[in-house]
Amino acid sequence: MCRRAIHAILRRASGGHGERRTARLERVRIAVVSDIHSNLVALDAVLAKIGAVDAIWHLGDVVGYGPEPDAVVDRLTGLGAVGVRGNHDAAAAGGNEIDWFNPDARAAMEWTRTAISETTRAWLAALPLRRMESDFTLVHGSPRDPIWEYVTSAALARAGLSAISTEHGLHGHTHVPIAFTMVDGRMRTLVPRPGNTVALGEGRTLLNPGSVGQPRDHDPRASYLVLDIAAGTATWGRVAYDFEVVGAAMRAAGLPTRLADRLRVGV
Ligand code: ZN
Repeated sequence: MCRRAIHAILRRASGGHGERRTARLERVRIAVVSDIHSNLVALDAVLAKIGAVDAIWHLGDVVGYGPEPDAVVDRLTGLGAVGVRGNHDAAAAGGNEIDWFNPDARAAMEWTRTAISETTRAWLAALPLRRMESDFTLVHGSPRDPIWEYVTSAALARAGLSAISTEHGLHGHTHVPIAFTMVDGRMRTLVPRPGNTVALGEGRTLLNPGSVGQPRDHDPRASYLVLDIAAGTATWGRVAYDFEVVGAAMRAAGLPTRLADRLRVGV
């Protein structure tokens, strides 16, 4: 689906711009996924669990660490997903971000650079640092520093919200799901469990869906977020996937075994 079509749906669903709401568009669902990290098995489990959506937004680090970079990019492009560039995407496209990687991440990135097709490399290189979709600004790290900053506190979330012009922000990079809501100038923090929902109408929000392909909150299940624009909700979810299959593929490819092992425990 093209951007213009999605915008039209969002406008109609929200009843904005004087357009009448249609019954057919009462529910507009958007899947938000981040830090997929070349883990196609996890991504497909998420997509199957979420079911039909009107759009897919990704928050970067599509590649790195995992064994199937081209297949993940193929899946996202085939579904018309739009998103932003993470530090691993920038490094895979040839950037010097690789110089700041730890040894395992660097080894995996050197493998990724040789494994990806020219089509994948060009797609990664073309990802923007920031992207605005309707009332949301999408970034990988933070609104202030889309490549490197980790938003891990309410103070950093407040600074991030002050750096964007949209009502809401979406970010990844930490691999830990979290929600910050600013109500009457005060920050609320929620560490969401699966099924938890944040009401978008309560205030400005900065939301992290967690990681699809390498969760780090001690839960090995793939993490994701679903926005329901008409209902004004953001709801987190988790889904189990076969991390042993992914780990075996990583070992067979010669990727660092520690990166395969950590998938079992979600760190
Ligand atoms: Zn990442």
